[in-house]
Amino acid sequence: MANDTQSNTTTIKCLNCGTEFQGNFCPECGQAAETGRFTMKFIYENLLAAFISKDGGIWFTLKNLFIRPGEMIVEILKGKRRSYFSPFPMLFFTLTVLILLFSITGSREDIKSIEQEIIKAEKDGKTELVVNGSSTEKGRSEFFKLIGHTITFYNNHYTAVTMLTIPLFLFVTRAWYGKTNRKRYYRAEYLIAIAYSMVMVVLYRCLISLMYMFSRNVSDSMSNFVPLVIVAALTACFRKMLGFSITKTAWRSILALVLYYIILGIVLLSILILVFLIVYVPIIKQKNGV
Ligand SMILES: [Zn+2]
Repeated sequence: MANDTQSNTTTIKCLNCGTEFQGNFCPECGQAAETGRFTMKFIYENLLAAFISKDGGIWFTLKNLFIRPGEMIVEILKGKRRSYFSPFPMLFFTLTVLILLFSITGSREDIKSIEQEIIKAEKDGKTELVVNGSSTEKGRSEFFKLIGHTITFYNNHYTAVTMLTIPLFLFVTRAWYGKTNRKRYYRAEYLIAIAYSMVMVVLYRCLISLMYMFSRNVSDSMSNFVPLVIVAALTACFRKMLGFSITKTAWRSILALVLYYIILGIVLLSILILVFLIVYVPIIKQKNGV
């Protein structure tokens, strides 16, 4: 078998999965036959491809997400996968950018000032405690501390909190986007659209964080529009998939978001009260008993 065109006829053992094959790509796992050592050129091309490639690049996906979000998601659900950057890695990526922006622009300082206010309020509560000596005042100050802890937790774990509330978004969208759509689409398919709409919301938060460098007031007032942006993002991502009109999708998205806030509020309050009853009340009782 001495052949002069060796590339196509020689059998190669795939270095990724071990399959023996002929040709340029492994038929089992798709890895290329040629695998040289890593070079800086490879790293550079790889990074560049991740951002600007039309074949699953971040920039191409973002462009489509903002120009034709509904169409893009329908395409992805129907099977056009390679062209677009996967939704959850994309969400992680944008959240990382947001966290970086938090520390670069110092927009987190604003949150720190809220904490300071709470600590101050707590101290005021304590001075009252000295004057009155009542246990309710002390309870109130402990409660302030707890709210402070909750806010700190929320900010330190922004990524985790966002990811944790995704199942809640799944629940509220499935509750409001119609029975036929609930039957037509899997939960996972709803999650794809939710993840991409979250990317849009996180990017808006990035913009708020950037704006903080130029004008604190503009940045603050932009924060008020976050719920509106969430509704807009959900509407843009879900409309085509649901087959609703823009008005109907927007209206249902508002109802879904209201339900989301109600549930989130109840959950947070329950956790807060539970922690208060389990951790703080016994301490207060003990202190008062002595
Ligand atoms: Zn292989």
